[in-house]
Amino acid sequence: MRNRDKAKEKEYNKRYYQEHREQAHCYYEANREQSRKQSHHYRETHPEQVREYQKHYQREHREQLLKQRCLWYQANREKIREYNKHYHQEHRIQARCYRKANRERERENLRRWRKANPEQHREHCRRRHAKLVSVIHNLTVKEWQHIKEIYDHRCAYCGEKKKKLTQDHVVPISKGGSHTISNVVPACQSCNSRKGTGEAPAFQRILILALEGN
Ligand SMILES: [Zn+2]
Repeated sequence: MRNRDKAKEKEYNKRYYQEHREQAHCYYEANREQSRKQSHHYRETHPEQVREYQKHYQREHREQLLKQRCLWYQANREKIREYNKHYHQEHRIQARCYRKANRERERENLRRWRKANPEQHREHCRRRHAKLVSVIHNLTVKEWQHIKEIYDHRCAYCGEKKKKLTQDHVVPISKGGSHTISNVVPACQSCNSRKGTGEAPAFQRILILALEGN
């Protein structure tokens, strides 16, 4: 019985609010300070209801909220980046503690990601390596695929068709070669290790120039 009364009251309040929306808004504006205090007080004393309402609102306005967030992000991209950078610096120690405490879980996550994205992971390692020796490094996964296709998935040195091809730097990174599309050829494991840090033979250059023109 009581529940039904409550539901009725709720329904009534809702309808009343919808019909008197304008007035409510005007009242709120006219009594801004007080209204704000009241609504703050309500939120403080009714956390459950507020949460419930927010959940409901988010469910009902999902599309709209997503769009808003997207727009907001685009408009504030620079600010967000700046904030994140700042935040990261400020919380470096906490982050380290957190990582330490969650090391095992993070490791597991990383393992899972590597397994699911082997090519991206390899590319990441190569870039990191290239970065370490500070050379230009902008070869993308897509470009590497493209290079392999151009070479018909064959080793650039022995011409053998291989499933697993390594990236060979024509001018070795250690000699200032870049990790870019114009300096990378596919090589089988044995040719790559045989070449070591020596430079590629001249005919490779011609193939590479052709690739650059593509
Ligand atoms: Zn080979």
